Amino acid sequence: MFDLIIAGASVVDGSGSPPFTADIGVAGDRIAAVGKISESQGRRVIRADGLVACPGFVDVHSHSDYFLLLNPRAESAVRQGVTSEIGGNCGYSAAPIWGSWKEERDQTYRELYGLDPQWRGVREYFGQLAAEGLSINFGLLLGHNTIRGSVLGGAARPPDSGEMAAMIQAVRQGMQEGALGLSTGLIYAPACFASAEELATLGQVAREEGGLLTCHMRSEGDGLLEAIREILDVARTAQIPLQISHLKTSGERNWGKLTEALRLIEEARSRGQDVAADRYPYTASNTGLQAVLPAWALEGSRVEQLARLQDSSVRERLKRELTDRQWDRIMIAEVTREGNRRYEGLEVSQAAAVAGKGPVDFVCDLLVEEETRVDAIFFTMSEENLQQILTRPYVMVASDSGTRAHVGPLSRGRPHPRTFGTFPRVLGVYVREKRLLDLPVAIRKMTFDPCRRFGLAGRGLIAPGNFADVVLFDPDTVADRSSYREPIHYPHGIRYVLVNGVVTVEEGEHAGARAGRVLRRSNEGTRRGGPERG
Ligand SMILES: [Zn+2]
Repeated sequence: MFDLIIAGASVVDGSGSPPFTADIGVAGDRIAAVGKISESQGRRVIRADGLVACPGFVDVHSHSDYFLLLNPRAESAVRQGVTSEIGGNCGYSAAPIWGSWKEERDQTYRELYGLDPQWRGVREYFGQLAAEGLSINFGLLLGHNTIRGSVLGGAARPPDSGEMAAMIQAVRQGMQEGALGLSTGLIYAPACFASAEELATLGQVAREEGGLLTCHMRSEGDGLLEAIREILDVARTAQIPLQISHLKTSGERNWGKLTEALRLIEEARSRGQDVAADRYPYTASNTGLQAVLPAWALEGSRVEQLARLQDSSVRERLKRELTDRQWDRIMIAEVTREGNRRYEGLEVSQAAAVAGKGPVDFVCDLLVEEETRVDAIFFTMSEENLQQILTRPYVMVASDSGTRAHVGPLSRGRPHPRTFGTFPRVLGVYVREKRLLDLPVAIRKMTFDPCRRFGLAGRGLIAPGNFADVVLFDPDTVADRSSYREPIHYPHGIRYVLVNGVVTVEEGEHAGARAGRVLRRSNEGTRRGGPERG
């Protein structure tokens, strides 16, 4: 007997192979059979004529570390068909974190969301997630920025030997407690103050423990090529597999660098270096508004940053240095103070005009009022380059977002539409409409490839013995409905989602199940060496 039979689906199994019609038998948390199954053998049958059945989507670039505790149903993720996320990206992880860095971060989440983080280490954090009960599976990368901040605060200098030892110890322990690797965000403080040598040393520790390195590079625009060379060197020195996060060419004057950027990556791959990348299917990025500031302005604690932004000589220097910023290409996405909500959805140039200020003064004043907690969307990328990147065989689909919902504190502001639309958008726009990707190839980029790369054993393929993380979607109607102006819309066409064998989305609605698990690095799932082909 099976607990559930998915009958008559067009199965796209995740491997990249063509679709085939079959029934899928689920027993407990596993796929027990794929083939011809009599419906009388199932306690429940879902008829899937006209629907595609594929493995649950795996979002390898998530920022849901804290949001999952506010939204354990993972509404925006699971309704896209996402069954697993990997958080802790861009150097920013919920754990490990300690000292004054933890106090400052905790205060932010307490004030904004009423969250009371109790953990320091990875084990404790995982314990809190498990106690909450999640609707999706969740794995974690160790954030280099978070670790460096915990050890050195926001200091713009190299660590001394004791500080380096403390960072090494944090990486080793975090890996041993189940993290999947190390992430770094080199445009963000305090990792922007770290040398390639520091990164390689920490990368080597992560490698010794079986992890990979993911990187938001030091530049994705003017210094893109230098940044790619730097991180390729770091990963080669550390002999660690490298995942370049959200690969892009930022800023119109840099769009022409794509050919050389891809050449650098592909040359490294052909030399045997294990490097891959991920990308979201949109041409705008999303991060804190303070990302417009140069590194020198980001040094120190938040209190020090805020004092600096109020200094008139600093303002004058910023006005001289930021002359080439395109303020009409940056949209204010979310603020924390009611009085500033009128700026949400406006470009900085418009918002500055509303406030009766120049853009630099407006940005500095807003960052001070909001204690730097301003989220912004940057329209800086090329659609043509996006399509070239997505078709590369070593590029996976990922959202680069934290899970949201249509109600509660996570429905505030105007989050990037990728939060609600990434995976259906690939299926609707880039598979069905533009025919840029074949369906099996697109599915593979969202399932098998991420699982293999991040060492998630028993997931990413529709095959007997694997965990029953399964999506049933309508290939004729699947579509994202989230836009920059109106982002909070769930997609069309995602009909059923199973997480570890439990129906979590039913007829497009969240069924309330919380069958997700913490994904710890397992020896069984550790990737083997060598580059991945295909
Ligand atoms: Zn990033």
